[in-house]
Amino acid sequence: MGFLSPDRSILPQHALVIGDKAETGGSGALYEHVYPGTGEVTREIALANAADVDRAVAAAHAAFPDWRAMPGDKRRDLLLRLAALIDEKTAEMSPLLAIENGSILVASPYMSADASQKFRYFGGWADKIEGRTISTWGGPAHDYVSYEPYGTVGIIVPWNGPLYAATMCMAPALATGNCVVLKAPENAPWSLMKLMEIIQLAGFPPGVVNLVTGGPDVGEAMVSHPGIGKIEFIGSGGTARKILANASQSLKPVGLELGGKSAVIVFADADLQAAAKRGLSGAVSANGQGCVNGTRLLVERSIYEPYLQMLQGMAGYVKVGDPLAMDTFMGPVISEAALNRIQGMVEGGVADGGRVVCGGERMGGDYASGFFLPVTVLADVDPSSTIAKNEVFGPVLVVTPFDTEEEAVALANDSDYGLGAYIHTTSLARAHRVANQMMAGQVQVNGAGEAMTPCVPFGGMKHSGHGRLGGIEGLREFQQVRNVWINLQD
Ligand code: NAD
Repeated sequence: MGFLSPDRSILPQHALVIGDKAETGGSGALYEHVYPGTGEVTREIALANAADVDRAVAAAHAAFPDWRAMPGDKRRDLLLRLAALIDEKTAEMSPLLAIENGSILVASPYMSADASQKFRYFGGWADKIEGRTISTWGGPAHDYVSYEPYGTVGIIVPWNGPLYAATMCMAPALATGNCVVLKAPENAPWSLMKLMEIIQLAGFPPGVVNLVTGGPDVGEAMVSHPGIGKIEFIGSGGTARKILANASQSLKPVGLELGGKSAVIVFADADLQAAAKRGLSGAVSANGQGCVNGTRLLVERSIYEPYLQMLQGMAGYVKVGDPLAMDTFMGPVISEAALNRIQGMVEGGVADGGRVVCGGERMGGDYASGFFLPVTVLADVDPSSTIAKNEVFGPVLVVTPFDTEEEAVALANDSDYGLGAYIHTTSLARAHRVANQMMAGQVQVNGAGEAMTPCVPFGGMKHSGHGRLGGIEGLREFQQVRNVWINLQD
């Protein structure tokens, strides 16, 4: 069969963009980026360090006064121009998305379209940011509220969808008049390096968006930097704890979009085939490495075995393979270490009583040099077991039966996480009733990810984070409130 090798000649050159300077590398450590499809090194990158972060923050500060003062319609036009250019560059962006983290090439155009859509949506807000008057003040005074940018926003994103994650923060941050220091993750840097090229092409003033490609030390330097007014972090709960501890020194606000173990409740009255297809997407979407994937399936006992059979049958049709081949449905996980960790969790799930319905074993042969695990379904999983409680971040579904609606709700909410919840039913009353009880930021009825558009607020409850990206709530995330009171008495 033979997997395609990544074309290294298309990889963007500039790992840092600071002010008007695009630089091939920073002053930090050298990092070998590995392509998960074949395990080969694509290129070595000289990462940024704390001194580079200092320079990036200084460039953002220099750009901020003019950027803030720019009329909203001009900022809008720039953001719309950026959106149009992202669309134009889809063919250049697509392979980079696949090469950076092994996501499937066939899905790449949707990722580009999603990015441009965010700049379009939030660009539309840029000239509609208004304050409000508090007319209920009793005395002779005039009181009004204005919404102000933070100045420089630091954006730290994970490797599983860097373009997706970064643009969901950058678009509202820029629309509201903030400058940005963006950290591209060292293990998936190419799409953000490309995005920076497009931002420069769009004609953004130098320093409005700055890129530093780097690892945890660069993130730490951003969080502790006194010149950054707010951090927007997308990543794991473990890192979030470190970031909050770090930010406790500077008292910097931190937005958190974290992981999940999202429940999928399948009631006996659901369209079973549709529910199985959507259930399977929890393993397949983003190669099983999506924060909001529905990975904890709760299935009404009367349809439990038929549902499992459907899942197993459909899993057999998922073509796992070369991320760069156009007929591939699911690619590898990010690294050898991730694969070993996932396999360990599956073994733990089996030891705790889980029954393997399909998958579970690393793929060999042509797949051996990449990091491939097929769709893996574990049934009869004890809801209190480690694999039912923790994010696997791989193509693994755990399935547990339930008997009553009350039990399904209790099981769904019995999680430290609260990112997504998916409900499958044909009963309108049950859909509303159950949705109303979900302790999750993102509830979908008879869906599997369709609601992930820039016009709706996205975010988690409990350990899945706080704050929202998307919609008017996402806009407010990048604004601080000023109240002005004016005495009208002489
Ligand atoms: P991670 O927490 O290991 O890393 C995320 C980012 O934080 C990286 O850029 C990393 O370099 C940086 N970082 C690491 N240590 C840091 C520190 N001490 N200070 C500052 N920055 C630091 O997460 P990951 O493995 O890259 O991504 C997977 C996780 O992200 C999963 O838990 C997934 O669910 C979550 N995620 C959440 C969303 C969401 O929108 N809720 C979206 C995508 C991914």
